[in-house]
Amino acid sequence: MYAFLGLMVSLLALGACAPLQGTSTRKKLLLVSFDGFRWNYDQDVDTPNLDSMARDGVKARYMTPPFVTQTSPCHFSLLTGKYIENHGVIHNMWFNTSTGQKLPYYYTQRVSSWWDNGSLPIWITAQRQGLKTASLFFPGGNATYQGEQVNIKRVEGFFHKYNNVTEWRQNIDLVMKWFTTDNLDFVALYFGEPDSTGHKYGPESQQRKEMVSQVDQTVGYLRKSIREHGMSSALNLIITSDHGMETVIKKDEIHLQKVANFSFRDIQFELVDYGPQGLLVPKPGKLEEVYEALKNAHPKLHVYKKEEFPKRFRYANNPRITPLVLYSDPGYVIHGRIKVQLNNGEHGFDNQVMNMKTIFRAEGPAFKRGLEVEPFESVNVYALLCELLEIKPEPHDGSLNATWHMLLKSAGTDQISPPGTDQISPPHSTWELALVLSLVACLGCVIGIACYVLM
Ligand SMILES: [Zn+2]
Repeated sequence: MYAFLGLMVSLLALGACAPLQGTSTRKKLLLVSFDGFRWNYDQDVDTPNLDSMARDGVKARYMTPPFVTQTSPCHFSLLTGKYIENHGVIHNMWFNTSTGQKLPYYYTQRVSSWWDNGSLPIWITAQRQGLKTASLFFPGGNATYQGEQVNIKRVEGFFHKYNNVTEWRQNIDLVMKWFTTDNLDFVALYFGEPDSTGHKYGPESQQRKEMVSQVDQTVGYLRKSIREHGMSSALNLIITSDHGMETVIKKDEIHLQKVANFSFRDIQFELVDYGPQGLLVPKPGKLEEVYEALKNAHPKLHVYKKEEFPKRFRYANNPRITPLVLYSDPGYVIHGRIKVQLNNGEHGFDNQVMNMKTIFRAEGPAFKRGLEVEPFESVNVYALLCELLEIKPEPHDGSLNATWHMLLKSAGTDQISPPGTDQISPPHSTWELALVLSLVACLGCVIGIACYVLM
């Protein structure tokens, strides 16, 4: 009798496990980045669509990007959940300190080895777990990772105009087709604004405000498209960005060429003229001399040997970082031999500076409505993306704890953090259920065998 009961419990438990594998409640996910959207850009412009999205979903007061607050490094932190020193995309520009070669942002998108550096972006992880993904202009979307590429990709052409609102809408239409016709699970969609306008005219300019208005109208178009495609209950939407924007100060500038006792003849490789950051390789035997010449050269310039770079930045502990690392205070850019940097707005500054903070908004079937949450670091977004896609994350530096309270599944329970949290996202609830049922099955077997032996 007990043997029979035990066997039945075992079979029931095993049987119950089987359909769980094939049953998915997975929703689709659209990750949108509007480059250089500072955290408070919606406060001096009328943004009815972003406001409406906040009412229907979740809004973070702001989000803190990693340092260095540049486009490719910060986007790769969104895609991997790692600080920049841990994913290795340390600059917008590929460079080779031996040959002196450097490639601008556009070409660096085409150098896979710059991106494929030991960390997998979420596209690849999702595809390995059976999902279909796409990238539309997203930084890192063109690279091959461990021999694999995102399923579908679009990459900007050399003469791409980032501010063409007609093209923005066509891109949204294409993404909707990918979700509805091609049945993709995850798409990362990138817009180069309001970054470009912020650089050109400055973050306080009228042009920037008009561009934020264009962004807001595009958010409206996107939300309307989601509704019209009947996707509102099937798609989670996250709108975020990589960093903020600071007004450039054009007096008492930092100009390395003019620093006493410093000479570019002592430098083997330099990467300066790129906003507030500099990477230097002194010639052999010249490190101390160059360091001494630069360290007190300007009150707004900070010069560090790589090993002494402040640990809080989580930036310098990577083989790609040069022996000397420079950064400047908000508003000050670092000019090298001649002044070629004429932007009115810039980023790349200390990620604790408020003007470097950026936005995070989310809505959809997984999210609570009308919730404003406290700030968090952008390395935590990856864990949330994996949770929404129901995939197992790669090792990362973030935590689902940072965003768990945004999710509807956190409501109605006493859990203020996700189950089993640590550096890695918790197992899926289906896995937990399967585990419990397996244990019941084992217990049933033990009882059954014990009864059989006793009889
Ligand atoms: Zn950017």
